[in-house]
Amino acid sequence: AHLDRIGAVDDKVHAFLSVDEDGALAQAAAVDARIAAGEQVGPLAGVPLALKDVLTQRGVPTTAGSRILEGWRPPYDATVTRRLLEAGVVILGKTNMDEFAMGSSTENSAYGPTYNPWDLSRVPGGSGGGSAAALAAFEAPLAIGTDTGGSIRQPAAFTGTVGVKPTYGGVSRYGQIALASSLDQPGPCARTVLDTALLHEVIGGHDPKDQTSLAAPVPAVVEAARHGDVKGLRIGVVRELGGEGYAPEAEANFHATVERLASLGAEVVEVSCPNFEYALAAYYLILPSEASSNLARFDAMRYGLRVGDDGTRSTEQVMALSREAGFGAEVKRRIIIGTYALSAGYRDAYYGSAQKVRTLVQQDFTAAFAKADVLVSPTTPTAAFGIGERLDDPMAMYLNDLCTIPTNLAGNSAASFPSGLTSDGLPLGFHVMAPHLADDRLYLVGAALER
Ligand code: GLN
Repeated sequence: AHLDRIGAVDDKVHAFLSVDEDGALAQAAAVDARIAAGEQVGPLAGVPLALKDVLTQRGVPTTAGSRILEGWRPPYDATVTRRLLEAGVVILGKTNMDEFAMGSSTENSAYGPTYNPWDLSRVPGGSGGGSAAALAAFEAPLAIGTDTGGSIRQPAAFTGTVGVKPTYGGVSRYGQIALASSLDQPGPCARTVLDTALLHEVIGGHDPKDQTSLAAPVPAVVEAARHGDVKGLRIGVVRELGGEGYAPEAEANFHATVERLASLGAEVVEVSCPNFEYALAAYYLILPSEASSNLARFDAMRYGLRVGDDGTRSTEQVMALSREAGFGAEVKRRIIIGTYALSAGYRDAYYGSAQKVRTLVQQDFTAAFAKADVLVSPTTPTAAFGIGERLDDPMAMYLNDLCTIPTNLAGNSAASFPSGLTSDGLPLGFHVMAPHLADDRLYLVGAALER
């Protein structure tokens, strides 16, 4: 049914970069066989899923939205992919994304944009716009995203779906094509809070193949999603995440949602995180610095695209021509910024200062979590914007992530839950942040809102 749905709507939505019909049907048949053999299968066995094209799946094209990886078929499964397949989840295909997960609209994909199913003239958010749009268009009931600065949560807000960024290290990054290794985190996406929790449980937990994987059990997310009682929960409204630059409708929706939680018995307090103001600037130094290093591996010698290798050019010339042709404008912009920020003479002033701000943001979170069990804000300052509207203005694009970025800098968990529609009928998201390894609290709040 989901393959049929993809066939019916995906030429309009363009959520998928590739659909693995044969693989999906074979995986579904294998689940049937396991059940027929009397095997006990998990709750998601046989349930279809859309996989962001930044995670490897053995033998299936994986591009990270870039020309430079066109045609590459990875020889191994990411840990997330392996756990999904072991749980009997059926992987329908790979979803569209901003190139190397750099962006907030999916317009930076080398393979064309994804369109928001709520209004095809608008973006679905990014970088994981394909996964979010696949959910909103009912092409898949489950999806995987990755969140470096908001790429799970902002698309969830723009498409009226649920997206969770787990605690850093809670879900393995093994097999995720790296953008910024200290910020990257794969996570679960779905249309309901319980579905998201069930998926979280399947992909989470310690992985010896990822050095930064936490040796801790997955927080009790499914129990929290079933429970959904916020009575007595202290909800901290972050004073700095609102006001100027936020659409009045987004703010009104946010405050109405906080009031709903209060009416369900939550205790609302105001908290201040004064250094969040500098988080965006720090992020746009730390991310390009790490990305410039991570993306050095795309040298035309080991993967994908190779240009100008006709026997007359040096290795360096072939590398330069291939990177020139294979990377898009945003990727080049960030490699150049990162290389500059790390260069001799500038490193302390730029990268070093950004790391100090990162510590201050972490300290803000620690202080705020002493007063509140979770922190809340709008997920984004506005609802989904039009295709092409912010493409020529990188700063306007970067401002989408004002509320989501502090969490990536600190490594704690956060989620976006649907919180209603604007007067134009566009979804808005409610952003909840929880301490490290307290991901279950996110689901508690999400489930309360869903009732
Ligand atoms: N939009 C942010 C960026 O462009 C976040 C990206 C992400 O989370 N992968 O960096």
